[in-house]
Amino acid sequence: MTIGPDIERAGDIDRRLLMDRSVAGRRAFTLPESDVPVQELPDPSLLRDDIELPEVSQLEVIRYFSLLSQLNFSIDTNFYPLGSCTMKYNPKINDELANLPGLADIHPLQPAETVQGAIRLLKELQDDLGEITGLPGVSLAPLAGAQGEYAGLLIARAYHQARHDAERTVAIIPDSAHGTNPASASMAGLEVVTVRSDDQGNVDVENLRELADSRTAAFMLTIPSTLGLFEPNILEITKIIHDAGGLVYADGANLNALLGLVKLGDLGVDICHSNLHKTFSTPHGGGGPGSGPVLVRADLARYLPEPVAEKTGDGPDSTYRLAAPADSIGPLNGFHGSFSIAARAYAYIRALGIEGLRSVSENAIIGANYIQAGLKDRYDLAADRYCMHETVLSATRQKKRGVSGLDIAKRLLDFGIHAPTMYFPLIVEEALMIEPTESESKETLDHFIAVMRQIDDEVDSAPELIHDAPHDLPVTRLDEATAARRPVLRWSAE
Ligand SMILES: *Cc1c(COP(=O)(O)O)cnc(C)c1O
Repeated sequence: MTIGPDIERAGDIDRRLLMDRSVAGRRAFTLPESDVPVQELPDPSLLRDDIELPEVSQLEVIRYFSLLSQLNFSIDTNFYPLGSCTMKYNPKINDELANLPGLADIHPLQPAETVQGAIRLLKELQDDLGEITGLPGVSLAPLAGAQGEYAGLLIARAYHQARHDAERTVAIIPDSAHGTNPASASMAGLEVVTVRSDDQGNVDVENLRELADSRTAAFMLTIPSTLGLFEPNILEITKIIHDAGGLVYADGANLNALLGLVKLGDLGVDICHSNLHKTFSTPHGGGGPGSGPVLVRADLARYLPEPVAEKTGDGPDSTYRLAAPADSIGPLNGFHGSFSIAARAYAYIRALGIEGLRSVSENAIIGANYIQAGLKDRYDLAADRYCMHETVLSATRQKKRGVSGLDIAKRLLDFGIHAPTMYFPLIVEEALMIEPTESESKETLDHFIAVMRQIDDEVDSAPELIHDAPHDLPVTRLDEATAARRPVLRWSAE
């Protein structure tokens, strides 16, 4: 990463790279004297003395890394309306709880009797998620939303095979779906068939009726849809699929819109996954670890990926263990999923309770609709109706006047606002997908609306301001593709 010492920035912040701060002999650490005998290296040629390492004091290291951390936008410093990622405020106490020694310092290979509390936590989280979704069979094993999808589709295949209905090899997926859906389906060995969306952003029910047949293994529906919409024909849709003998898979990555309001199981959904690293107190857009539990109706629980936490007995005599369901599709990874994310989710759910969870979703929905209402006279909407937890705008009107969605996203950075998700979903031209989340104040939403309106003014009055944006950040317009494909990781150019 090069930050570039030549970049000017307000104030006198020391922006030198760590290597440029190096002074021979400076040290950032003190180690206690070694109390074990010095060992000879088996092969001294493995030692090199020509490696340049920065020699700096502890304070210099702290300043340098603190500065680096401030160069990024973050939810702790900026409004972060990155659609579909649910970059909301996650209470710090959930991190603290997940870091309690009894949870953080245990080992996955410890005998179950020494980690009863941890397994109980997993069991109770399974039960809570089952209650929230109305799908009581739960495995916390998947390490991402996409892995939850993959597991869910393997479960669908196992179910059909057990019924000697193995010719069902097609997954029907709407054209508006999240990209992971068709990818997971083909990894699970299914053939992907696309169903159209109508002009309101709903599944084209007549098209679905034509496609659903004796080859349908599963229909995958994102709820709410990738346009942030509730599917009004959901009951008809699940009936069409069930009548054809298929299973309904709901991509419930964005449960933030549904908590305490709708249970997927009540809608006729058979299998779903949920992203704990969106809704349940771990951020998604931060790029960290994930957890995508897979949830199924009761009779499909026998196929869940192992392990599943179980409870035997009642009251003080109850014990907890991790087990493999009878006809499990097998393990998905080494152990039992992302335990510390599960611990955060558990703390979050228990602290909020069902009333609190419902108000999370209600406020997320109100916030998104507030923004939509505040901008719809200036920006086109992907669908002109009430949205759920996010709204998809289209910058087509601005594009005709010479400014693209990307330009607008870059200009937002000048106002300290993280860019929305751009150019997604693919079926919307110049898409700007905005998810304010429940944790932002009305003042922040008003500020965002005012900024977006001002940018729309600037499209005519000062387009160069938008084209050159961002103006006040350490780097401006990046070649993002090359940055990702050929990252420059040297500290200096030569
Ligand atoms: C985020 C998301 C996913 C994928 O989740 P990952 O954890 O990134 O694999 C799938 N579907 C939808 C609708 C999502 O928003």
